[in-house]
Amino acid sequence: MTLRDALIKRIAAQGPITIAEYMTTALLHPTHGYYTTRDPFGTQGDFTTAPEISQMFGELIGLCLAQSWLDQGAPSDFVLAELGPGRGTLMADILRATATVRGFHTSAQIVLVEASPVLRQAQAEMFKDRTPTWVNGVEDIPPGPLWLVANEFFDALPIRQFVRDGRGWRERCVGLDDGQLTFGLSPLGPQPALDHRREDTADGDLVELCAPATAVMGHIAPRIATQGCALIVDYGDWRSQGDTLQAVRGHTPSDPLADPGNADLTAHVDFEALAQAAAPAAHTKITPQGVFLERLGITQRAETLAQHLRDTALEQHIAAHRRLTHPDEMGNLFKVLGLFPDHAAPPPGLTR
Ligand code: SAH
Repeated sequence: MTLRDALIKRIAAQGPITIAEYMTTALLHPTHGYYTTRDPFGTQGDFTTAPEISQMFGELIGLCLAQSWLDQGAPSDFVLAELGPGRGTLMADILRATATVRGFHTSAQIVLVEASPVLRQAQAEMFKDRTPTWVNGVEDIPPGPLWLVANEFFDALPIRQFVRDGRGWRERCVGLDDGQLTFGLSPLGPQPALDHRREDTADGDLVELCAPATAVMGHIAPRIATQGCALIVDYGDWRSQGDTLQAVRGHTPSDPLADPGNADLTAHVDFEALAQAAAPAAHTKITPQGVFLERLGITQRAETLAQHLRDTALEQHIAAHRRLTHPDEMGNLFKVLGLFPDHAAPPPGLTR
């Protein structure tokens, strides 16, 4: 039975499910989930992420984390964690770039928060000479000062969608129409968590909530308030508005209900919600990825690497630099939010 058929059966028996339940099943079902069954990255896969585009991304993130660690007195035992490490490329680039930062490697315990067994396997191959610890969720990250990075992790967390109807809200759900998966609206109900959205919405407007994102922040923020730093990179903006649920397959947008488990499903990240959940840690302004990477010196790094490249390799390298930074590519769509202790300096490249 396909995952689509299993969902149809479940909805026929038990009624419509929320978008969050649909996303969780499609992405992480133990045997048919999108992430549980495959490595989705690269030109042969469904999508490409910044660390897969160029080593420069992970190198600069690594140096940013290491500088923040130095700025906070270089604690001798700390956790270097990544949420949703994919193939492990970002952490591998972070480690290569920071190899000469004295004490950084010997003080770091590497922790990877990863739900997918297939991707854990890919990550294990990436770290043959180091032994990371894998955990299922942020609540399992071992204690200690925490330096953390998450690239395109929060967009994979399940959202719920609500449509404004007078003073109340109706939840957008996945139900059945003529035996096929379809979107529908639940009966009107109060949603206290959305009271603040009455001011900027009108009848018919759709807003999204991502409770798991707030829960993740609730675990990491108090730790970082004491010592550490988090760099959160993702697409989205300060406040979510409108339907941002999207499916991507073979680098092309597709219908989110067409083939659950075989397409990536994401939603834009609501950075305002993350920032509000950052207390008691301080948070930086959200900064476009292009600006952040330029401040960290990506152009100088690109020029240095270019000296060793010719022909197609050089062209690809120049294209990768543009893709990461240009406002028409990832430069503006992707944003960076930093968390840091109120008494410390913000991570390099970001401002309070
Ligand atoms: N950071 C990587 C991969 C991004 S894709 C990169 O930039 O290339 C999203 C990653 O998050 C995958 O590794 C996926 O398996 C993982 N993931 C998604 N939902 C998760 C969850 N709820 N808990 C832990 N990991 C999750």
